[in-house]
Amino acid sequence: MQLTISGLSKTYANGTRALHDINLRMNTGMFGLVGPNGAGKSTLMRTLATLQDADHGSVFLDELDVLNDKTAVRKILGYLPQEFGLYPKVNAEVLLNHIAEMKGIAAKAERKELVEWLLNKTNLYQFRKKNLGGFSGGMKQRFGIAQALIGNPKLIIVDEPTAGLDPAERNRFHNLLSEIGENVIVILSTHIIEDVKSLCNQMAIINLGEVLLQGHPDEVIQQLNGKVWRKLINKSDLTNMAGIEIISSRLLRGMIEVTVVSDSLPDSGFVLAEPGLEDVYFSYVRNINQ
Ligand code: ADP
Repeated sequence: MQLTISGLSKTYANGTRALHDINLRMNTGMFGLVGPNGAGKSTLMRTLATLQDADHGSVFLDELDVLNDKTAVRKILGYLPQEFGLYPKVNAEVLLNHIAEMKGIAAKAERKELVEWLLNKTNLYQFRKKNLGGFSGGMKQRFGIAQALIGNPKLIIVDEPTAGLDPAERNRFHNLLSEIGENVIVILSTHIIEDVKSLCNQMAIINLGEVLLQGHPDEVIQQLNGKVWRKLINKSDLTNMAGIEIISSRLLRGMIEVTVVSDSLPDSGFVLAEPGLEDVYFSYVRNINQ
């Protein structure tokens, strides 16, 4: 299965150019979409989820014309938006059954079987009678995935799913996502670069509505081999770094660790470092708090 996005552009009525000539190809598996706030990720996700229209371009899921055949797309789409409302006084089993009915699964027995499968799959079976208002963040997200899986989707879109989850919940959610991602296309928009490294076999960095990079996480990291240099400095020394192109800086035990991408030693005291996906990201989208 392949999702092909060609020349996709969108400018909002107020003049904001949210997407500009986006070209992306996604295969079965998990595709990580990263970029700073305002990059255009949600606009792209909502467009793929048929919730808003683009100005130009085309999107095909194999032969299916995603932008023009919305009814067919909705049948094979699972969408977990950043924020989704839950009825706090309804329990998980009842709401999943209700959503399945709305998604067109008419036979009661079939729905019952499906809901049971979903609850098991997302580890929520023991909480099936619990009202959703009492769910933790992680349980809510797993419920979100359960509802997104109704209808056997071929394309699953999840928008920043792990915000607010504790590490154990995040882990469980990741395992669930990667299991799902074996047979369908899962598009994961996230701020957490590490998640892309551990989960995705394809990725893209977007900023200001444009694709800056796409590829396999390991391959894009390899391109920085022998080029990433780090140095620990005092805060006050940051001003002496003028002329050196720092891609990122972070506090480390009261000092500042600065990172530079360069073919040769940028300055005395820099040490060659193993590149990571964050270095790739920051070499495109700078993160400097000077
Ligand atoms: P991201 O999800 O990466 O944060 P968005 O797609 O939400 O990015 O936003 C991309 C740009 O479009 C931003 O500049 C944002 O302010 C703008 N934008 C998003 N939605 C609207 C809207 N409904 N009307 C006008 N501008 C919007």
